[in-house]
This record gives sequence, structure tokens and C-alpha cells, in this order.
Amino acid sequence: MDCIFCKIANGEIPSTTIYEDGDFRVITDINPANLGHCLVIPKAHAANVYELSEELTAKAFVIAKKVAAAVKKATECDGVNILQNNGETAGQTVFHFHIHIIPRLKSDDVKLSFGSFKADSESIAAMGEKIKKSL
Ligand code: AMP
Ligand code: ZN
Repeated sequence: MDCIFCKIANGEIPSTTIYEDGDFRVITDINPANLGHCLVIPKAHAANVYELSEELTAKAFVIAKKVAAAVKKATECDGVNILQNNGETAGQTVFHFHIHIIPRLKSDDVKLSFGSFKADSESIAAMGEKIKKSL
């Protein structure tokens, strides 16, 4: 399998590494939404959050929290987005799990809009119940 994030996370391709441990590497994004945009990448291949073990998922988000604080301190940004895309429809372009940490400035023009889906309260509650049963 030819996966760029496997190669980066395992050091086969050089990267600007912010943090590394036995399971993860945190790098700067090559095409950042803002200066300071970082990615938390597991060393073991998992295409998305469904494939990542619960243990590594928990570790990934703890690292993301620490990196978010460092990004905030270093960039002196006004806010931070922590994002994780699963599937092409959700904006995933690299099919190896990663968490984005994106510093946000009042003056930036980063577009992260959820729009507004029109749904009545019964449909919202019914889908909530369906999700509950799917857990
Ligand atoms: P996503 O759209 O959630 O799959 O995010 C993929 C991210 O990986 C994008 O923000 C890209 O800019 C970034 N990216 C792709 N290739 C590289 C690379 N070689 N080094 C660093 N970041 C990369
Ligand atoms: Zn991979």
C-alpha cells in the first residue's frame, strides 16, 4: 500500500515534526489553512476513525488537545479548530486517519460552515433515537 501519511509518520519522508512518540507523529500541514496548521498522525495505518482502535483514538485526541494549546500559545491566535474528516464527502483527501489543529484569527478567511439543514423537532428526535440504537 502506498500511503503518504504512513511514510511521513514513520519517518521515511522527512517532515517538520512538532511531536513524536511510539504511536504518533505531529507535523505541520504542507498546505495550511492558516500558519501553524498541524496534523496528528498515527504511525499505524488506519484509513479513518472507524478503523482506529479506541486506545489510539483516545491518545490521538489527548495529543490534539496538547498541540492545540501549543498552537494557541505560539501563534497567539484567537481560536483553534480541531477537525477530523472521515470519507470523501466529509472532505477527507488523505485516507490515513489524522486530526487537524487549525489556529483561527479574527481576520482570517477560513471557511468552515455547517450551513443549516431544515428539520422539524420530531425528525431530529427520531434520528437521535436511531443513532442511540446504533451505538
Ligand atoms: P484531509 O482533507 O482531512 O484528508 O486533510 C489532508 C491534509 O493533509 C490537507 O490539509 C493537506 O494539506 C495535508 N497534506 C497532504 N499531503 C501532505 C504532506 N505531504 N505533508 C503535510 N501535509 C500534507
Ligand atoms: Zn497510511
